[in-house]
Amino acid sequence: MNENLMHHYQVKLQAELDQIRHEFLADLKQASNHATEALIDTLQSSPPHEWVDIASDRICPGQFPNFERLVKVEAAICQMDIGQFGYCCDCEKKIEDTLLAVDPAAQRCLDCVAKKK
Ligand SMILES: [Zn+2]
Repeated sequence: MNENLMHHYQVKLQAELDQIRHEFLADLKQASNHATEALIDTLQSSPPHEWVDIASDRICPGQFPNFERLVKVEAAICQMDIGQFGYCCDCEKKIEDTLLAVDPAAQRCLDCVAKKK
């Protein structure tokens, strides 16, 4: 992948990361029960990059689509750092550019997405 494109995805993912953290926090506030209130306090006093670790033990991720998205976006950014960005996590082939253009956090190629369905 060329560097300009990679940079473009990186900027896009980083912007989404900030946005999605914000939305996840809003979801927790809306859920407002004893557990989520304590969790909000903890998250707000912790660095954002630790949020996923902290929250994954304390919520049911399935109830928070924004949390699942946050995990995915962080994973994609991490893959960029280690040079693994853009490869399918199932078959390790390159993920199609058309797919990454729609969702830079995509983790699977078109074939593997189709197999999952
Ligand atoms: Zn694949």
